[in-house]
Amino acid sequence: MMILKDLVADAIYQQNGYKAPVHSGAIKMDANENPFGLQQPLKRKLMEELKNIELNRYPEAGNPELRAKLANYYDVNQDRIMLGNGSDELIQILCLTMKGKVSGVLVPCPTFVMYKIIAVNAGQKVAEVPLDENFDLNLDAMLGKFGADFPSLIFLSYPNSPTGNLFDRDKIETLIKKAPGLVIVDEAYGAFSGQTLLDLTEKYDNLLILKTLSKLGMASIRLGFILGNPEVVAELNKVRLPYNINSLSQQTAIFFLNNIDEFDRQVDDIVQRREELFIGLKKIAGISPYPSRANFIYFSCNFDSDRIYESLAAQGVMVKNLNQPPRMTNCMRVTVGNHHENETFLKALQKVISEQGA
Ligand SMILES: *Cc1c(COP(=O)(O)O)cnc(C)c1O
Repeated sequence: MMILKDLVADAIYQQNGYKAPVHSGAIKMDANENPFGLQQPLKRKLMEELKNIELNRYPEAGNPELRAKLANYYDVNQDRIMLGNGSDELIQILCLTMKGKVSGVLVPCPTFVMYKIIAVNAGQKVAEVPLDENFDLNLDAMLGKFGADFPSLIFLSYPNSPTGNLFDRDKIETLIKKAPGLVIVDEAYGAFSGQTLLDLTEKYDNLLILKTLSKLGMASIRLGFILGNPEVVAELNKVRLPYNINSLSQQTAIFFLNNIDEFDRQVDDIVQRREELFIGLKKIAGISPYPSRANFIYFSCNFDSDRIYESLAAQGVMVKNLNQPPRMTNCMRVTVGNHHENETFLKALQKVISEQGA
């Protein structure tokens, strides 16, 4: 008889596993997607372009056309770019590439949960340092974790998820200067903040920038990329599977870049609606939203957020319930939606709270 427990890696056997929630027909404000689909004329144009793909052939090795387009867009050399099947895959490749036994991964908390999950699954040790009272980096505490071999990777989400703020740029730069390993600045939400640290990759050989199309209207195609030191990129490429980005996704990403003006307009629209949503949340007694530089808003409630989550779901509105002591007790995160979605969410939240007798 096979005893699975003795065969599966301990760090994996002990986990519950991350489950993305499933819900059809609901207003989705839980995954930080772009609420605007493609307009019909653009959609037709895309379908026309996808028609020519030779589905019987493997994608071209190294994704030359898309990488050239991205290199041009970001004004960097092509050897400074690697593509991933979502930036999640790039986080995984980073964790598989770097030495795990003697070093490991350092992250602030709260932050994007996948850093820790992926790192643990890849056999890395993970240290978490709480953010300060303003959700900024606790620089001294992070530096206090540095040792001869630790950490080989630091992940910083800029802006941070789920809190929505930008960490102080000088603190990040100090971490980069002092880090014994790589610092990965994850700009999944960068477009909504108008800020980037890409310029610093020329100055620091241990800084890499992670980006993704997922929050910009292309979550379905799973395309992320990493930008930085070509020597590091060359090592990461040894771990990347040869055809990790399928041809349909590549062609769609090229379409995205060719029509970037339309997607930039959507980002501007979302940023405006973020301010409307923030004002709407502030008006509800017992709800405290935090200012956001991303396409979502983090807020705390003076009520049981589990019950709020359930009631919102019953009204067809999905948000992220973060409720976790000590920092995120009764905290939630809502994605900025289109006008109708934001209004529906605010009304539903108001209703739940008046019914709870607040
Ligand atoms: C959504 C998200 C990602 C994952 O992006 P994919 O490209 O869809 O894998 C990475 N980092 C952060 C901070 C995110 O919020």
